[in-house]
Amino acid sequence: MPSLSQLQFSTKLLIDGELFEGEGRTETIYAPATGEVISQVREASTEQVNHAIAAAKRAYYSWSRTTPQQRSTVLLEIANLIENHAPNLARIEALNCGKPLHQALNDDLTAAVDVFRFFAGAVRCQYGQLSAEYIPGYTSMVRRDALGVVASIAPWNYPLMMAAWKIAPALAAGNTLVFKPSEHTPLSILELATHLDSILPKGCLNVVSGGGENVGSLLARHRDVRMISLTGDIVTGQKVLKDAVDSLKRTHLELGGKAPVIVCNDADIDLVVEGVTKYGYYNAGQDCTAACRIYAQAGIHDRLVEELGNAVSKLKFAQCQDSDNDLGPLISLRQRDRVASFVERALTEAHIQRVTGATIPSGSGYFYQPTLLAGCLQHDEIVQREVFGPVVTVTRFDEIPQALAWANDTEYGLASSVWTRDLDKAMHFATHLEYGCTWINSHFMLASEMPHGGLKRSGHGKELSSDSLQDYSVVRHIMARHALIN
Ligand code: NAD
Repeated sequence: MPSLSQLQFSTKLLIDGELFEGEGRTETIYAPATGEVISQVREASTEQVNHAIAAAKRAYYSWSRTTPQQRSTVLLEIANLIENHAPNLARIEALNCGKPLHQALNDDLTAAVDVFRFFAGAVRCQYGQLSAEYIPGYTSMVRRDALGVVASIAPWNYPLMMAAWKIAPALAAGNTLVFKPSEHTPLSILELATHLDSILPKGCLNVVSGGGENVGSLLARHRDVRMISLTGDIVTGQKVLKDAVDSLKRTHLELGGKAPVIVCNDADIDLVVEGVTKYGYYNAGQDCTAACRIYAQAGIHDRLVEELGNAVSKLKFAQCQDSDNDLGPLISLRQRDRVASFVERALTEAHIQRVTGATIPSGSGYFYQPTLLAGCLQHDEIVQREVFGPVVTVTRFDEIPQALAWANDTEYGLASSVWTRDLDKAMHFATHLEYGCTWINSHFMLASEMPHGGLKRSGHGKELSSDSLQDYSVVRHIMARHALIN
């Protein structure tokens, strides 16, 4: 884990192109791997939030009139900036989230850079409906325009990557932004913000740190904010929707998940064990798409539980040599205790067996041992609710329709996977699973070109891909009456 002395970070907010100390409440920022205090960050006051929104509103006039090529150039410069500062930003991310440095650098930072580069290209290649005379003597054209000021609110699991997912498409589409990181993990984006003045016109991107109930809610309620984009919990999504009602602003909600992983008798078991060991526990399971809810067919079930249990018990965490670690701690003591209490309650059920894990290791930091529970039944809390920790359950099934029904029997609809060598079976599941994404013989793989987002209570709206450019813009119909045609 990087040490504090290796870091260069800022605690200042970016408002209208200038850096300010926050004037609101003070938030203590912890290193989850040790529990040590990294810093204190003062959150934005109400006046500072209003100032940021007003600055974004002023900047909108000229930013929305730039060409796609001009915006593309700016996004490419931001991508280069992140790449040039990647070692420091990754160290901040690793310390503030507790994730292994190699993952912060090779996964999060690389993805953030790629997202800016993708949207730099995508905004220059948009297409749409043809202009034509749908009424004789009238030519109809469809424009796609920006919305205005967008407010974006991010969670703590991938702070800089989530910032990239939200900032890049919004700016590319011609909007200006007020971005709020999670109050637990503001440091990487605040540091990046100190380098943006030479790239972005002032006011185009404002970064205000602070808690959800005050800063987040102010953004969701403000009448000059035309769209609010949130990645977070379902309950937070509901609060944001309520706050957005008065101003009738557009909402974009990426909420929780509880991904089913359907393993059929004919699956390649080595592939499943490798995939779930990696993507059920990556980022300590703090991932809305984590491969956490296995349905294993009876013919493969016992072998899978045994081999997966062996593999999971070998996952490394809390090692002195950070490059050896497969996963880090939970983000906070509260989150670690929440995960532990889910597992404790599950283990009071006589039918649930602990295959591995289910303990809080000794030592400092908010670690929880990677856990595999077998014998879980569909109605169990641990099968139904998002744990957001390194905990995977296995439920046995006999017939395909049963697995499909159970996989869909949840309030979530973000991600799913099916593991089989039979393409017909795979396509049957892919067609009928009610999820924003279904992987076949894989899990968790994301591409900037492909849409990411949920159904049901996992929210609405897409991140990544040109679909998200559509979410951050609006089509307008222009109709010209004239005598030239016919
Ligand atoms: P959270 O909902 O507690 O917080 C997310 C953000 O919302 C934070 O910035 C927080 O300050 C803000 N917030 C909290 N209350 C608010 C309010 N009343 N008004 C406005 N903003 C408010 O979530 P978290 O604990 O940071 O992250 C974990 C959750 O995020 C999990 O449920 C996870 O599934 C979800 N998540 C979803 C995706 C996705 O793509 N669907 C990705 C990552 C995380």
